[in-house]
Amino acid sequence: KKPIVSIIGRPNVGKSTLFNRLARKRIAIVEDTPGVTRDRNYYDIQWENRPFTIVDTGGFESEVATDSLESSMVEQTKVAIEEADVVVFLLDGITGVAPDDQVIMDLLRRTEKPVFVVANKLDTPRHEDMTANLYELGVDKIFAVSASHGRGIGELLDELTQDF
Ligand code: GDP
Ligand code: MG
Repeated sequence: KKPIVSIIGRPNVGKSTLFNRLARKRIAIVEDTPGVTRDRNYYDIQWENRPFTIVDTGGFESEVATDSLESSMVEQTKVAIEEADVVVFLLDGITGVAPDDQVIMDLLRRTEKPVFVVANKLDTPRHEDMTANLYELGVDKIFAVSASHGRGIGELLDELTQDF
């Protein structure tokens, strides 16, 4: 069975954009307004002959999003972590750490699974030092990428697939 790599993160950080970048296809819907990803998308890819399945876990912004948005996010994130062999925790590198990021980080501290923390929207080299602020999450390493421009994706995949 191929390893499952789940992309998790709060709404609007660029999960679907990263998913599409990795799939090299527009499968997941990308929207400026959070709440568009209705279901989970799965896609089989490979990197340097190492096959794996990527999952876009955007679903938590949808159906249940009334007064219980946060608990819904927690539930969906738990399911995504459960299903994953490796987790990609995506952050918005421009807006920085939000309260919901801390909520997700708390869930991730309970798993033994490998977690790659990735700061997105760092579109130019000039943006890269913006990861410094994100270390308040208390993680050892944060990858800097731009899902829409493709920066940093190769380096991420090299490390992500190392044990596949
Ligand atoms: P999701 O809710 O996490 O799936 O986020 P989306 O993939 O739908 O993206 C949300 C918004 O962020 C959209 O307007 C995207 O165009 C934008 N976005 C995603 N990745 C990047 C990036 O690398 N750089 C910039 N500047 N914008 C991005
Ligand atoms: Mg999405």
